[in-house]
Amino acid sequence: KCTKCCRVSCMTTKRYASTANKTNSRKVIFSGIQPTGVPHIGNYLGALRNWVKMQREAEPDDQLIFSVVGWHALTLPQDPRKLLQTRNDTFAALVAIGLDPERSIIFHQDQKEVLYFTRTRLAISRNANDESEVDESMLNTGLLTYPVLQAADVLAYKTTHVPVGDDQQQHLELCRDLAESFNRSTNNSLFPLPETVFNPAKRILSLKDPSAKMSKSARDENSRILLTDDTITIRNKIRGAVTDSLSGVSYDTEARPGTSNLLTLLAGCLDEDVHAVAERYKDKGHGALKIDVTDVLEETLREPRAEFFRLRADPGHLQALADKGAERAKEISQRTLAEVRRLVGLLTE
Ligand code: ATP
Repeated sequence: KCTKCCRVSCMTTKRYASTANKTNSRKVIFSGIQPTGVPHIGNYLGALRNWVKMQREAEPDDQLIFSVVGWHALTLPQDPRKLLQTRNDTFAALVAIGLDPERSIIFHQDQKEVLYFTRTRLAISRNANDESEVDESMLNTGLLTYPVLQAADVLAYKTTHVPVGDDQQQHLELCRDLAESFNRSTNNSLFPLPETVFNPAKRILSLKDPSAKMSKSARDENSRILLTDDTITIRNKIRGAVTDSLSGVSYDTEARPGTSNLLTLLAGCLDEDVHAVAERYKDKGHGALKIDVTDVLEETLREPRAEFFRLRADPGHLQALADKGAERAKEISQRTLAEVRRLVGLLTE
């Protein structure tokens, strides 16, 4: 079984294990988050908390790069004024959760000089009887080339490790293919083949529709707990979370997705096994579970929330941090780009 990307049988592990970064043990860790809203508890448990852990555990020589991927957000329609705010809020949230701008490079990907028309519509030829429900306005070149843009980000820093959710598995595989094919065609090993680092944390689901994941961009604001939510907002959102009419509490993602999601949230915040947590609630009801989830969320979010608002009160400082991050990121990507130019014959040796 593959332990790297899909946890089923695939060739990825075999195919890449022999070539992946054996000669150099220095890690370059890169990941990104879209500025589509203030990060929610799903982003935190599923990705951001892991980034902070990797920062804490990194060797002095390792490089960590985290970016707010503004170009990727443009693959879907955005309100420009709202995006400007959420772009800054996302950056502030990364610092607020404990990413250190001195230790890690934290930057806005959209500060890179790219003129990239993500919203170019795809012309689709359809016959008159086609009744399919494809929303043509959503199909654009940005969506089509989303993984290529992601690969460009990953490879620009010669990344060796990419911590992402399992939804990104295929994208990273494409990235490795692109790196390998460039290396082969130039008879060089410029790009390491980046390894995917999966977070064992479970996916957090919407509080209102547990068939969907918790999302920054879902219309119902009560479906997510934001890193900035205050105590009363957390309490009201958890009180209104969809569960089921069965008595007691048990972990069963098929039959009881809403209840199981609350248990996953609780276990995630406590960093405990979800089955062990569920066992403690087997003789209790939804009311007791919701009270405890509320308390644990409040405890988890108290510090980052306070730090977020402290940072947001000083936009000049945040801008200086973002500029510094962009400058450091640019230095590395320009070096890589010069090497690429040399290899393909656009620059003298
Ligand atoms: P949106 O929430 O707007 O749909 P998204 O989920 O695609 O955006 P990203 O900004 O792309 O969010 O995600 C940043 C990281 O957070 C990714 O590594 C992704 O796997 C993780 N993530 C996003 N949503 C969840 C969730 N509900 N549970 C766990 N991890 C999540």
